[in-house]
Amino acid sequence: MTDPEFQIIGHGLAGAILAEVVARSGLRVRVWDDGGPASSDVAAGLFTPLTGMRLAPSWRIDDALPAMSNFYSSLQQELGTTLFHPLPTCRIFRSEEQAQEWDTRTSSEFVRTVDVSDLPIKAPWGAVCIDGGGWVDLPNMLDALRQRRQDQNAWGPPQSDAALTVWAEGARAAENPLWKDAGWRNAHGDVLIVRVPGLATHQVYSFGKFLQPIGDDLFRCGATYTWDHTCSKPREEGRVELERELRGLLKLPFEVIDHQAGIRPVAVARVPIVGPHPDDEHQWIFNGFASKGVLYAPWLAARLVDYVRDGRALPMETWAPRRIERNRARLATAQNQASRRSG
Ligand SMILES: Cc1cc2nc3c(=O)[nH]c(=O)nc-3n(C[C@H](O)[C@H](O)[C@H](O)COP(=O)(O)OP(=O)(O)OC[C@H]3O[C@@H](n4cnc5c(N)ncnc54)[C@H](O)[C@@H]3O)c2cc1C
Repeated sequence: MTDPEFQIIGHGLAGAILAEVVARSGLRVRVWDDGGPASSDVAAGLFTPLTGMRLAPSWRIDDALPAMSNFYSSLQQELGTTLFHPLPTCRIFRSEEQAQEWDTRTSSEFVRTVDVSDLPIKAPWGAVCIDGGGWVDLPNMLDALRQRRQDQNAWGPPQSDAALTVWAEGARAAENPLWKDAGWRNAHGDVLIVRVPGLATHQVYSFGKFLQPIGDDLFRCGATYTWDHTCSKPREEGRVELERELRGLLKLPFEVIDHQAGIRPVAVARVPIVGPHPDDEHQWIFNGFASKGVLYAPWLAARLVDYVRDGRALPMETWAPRRIERNRARLATAQNQASRRSG
């Protein structure tokens, strides 16, 4: 193999999508993953244009949504497999306050009112339907992309000849001396696979948690958030919490089939982090996708390639040198304050 221009460390969702975008652009790439735990292996793969209790548009949604839609549609066509599942989300209000807050807002192009009185769910405050979302089958996509890189002889351990090394290590970046200064607040998450015979499968259910149809009466139910928990094993408290929420939603019985967990890579600034290390321009990072890797990775991968080829600036909020310098300054201030207090 000739020297790669890009060497990518980590083949979760971030590294895999970046490698594919780099390869499509005609630049050379090599990828490596040491088989450690990956958040992408347990992620539901959901995406939605609106976020949070207030159903606000996600950051840079007008850029990210078309880029992701193009990327996954063309990928599944090329791979000859189904991995992109556009699906509406039924957002069930959990309080009078939530329903009223929605009522007072101007309507969004993505939201329509729905009647859920016929569904076997407890929804005393009603619901709305959110369009423009869905889910991506991440394990399927990662297997296919790994095979593609191997077929192209673009898979192998890191070497010293790369012009640019991009670290896409997920939550493990917090332990990497090169990237720990970026500032991390990783979040453990549990999911359950449950069987719910009789529940309609034409939509995702969102009720503080989510219930995502995955076929054969099976649904993925998630997810919990536990900060500063570094072991990716499933937590018993997580299972209890999800089962309690499910009982609060469903009028139907359900059976728990499996319990999985992972660690989301969350950067303190809450937006992905992309770009070179401030002390070494050959070492780059592509990480911090938190719960929105499916939505943001294709767009930001394309932006990274644009920067490398044409010098077109990446979104300022994501720019790694700025983020790392800021976090270092924040840490130094906190340390000074602590030593003044103790002195
Ligand atoms: C329960 C749960 C539910 C989620 N649901 C969703 C969802 O619905 N939608 C969504 O968009 N996101 C969701 N997420 C978040 C999503 O999983 C992350 O945004 C995404 O997976 C991050 O991808 P990544 O490639 O950065 O990290 P990971 O998927 O963790 O991959 C990192 C990879 O790098 C490898 N690696 C690390 N260090 C090295 C090294 N030094 N050398 C070699 N290899 C290395 C690891 O082995 C791993 O394969 C969820 C997460 C959890 C935990």
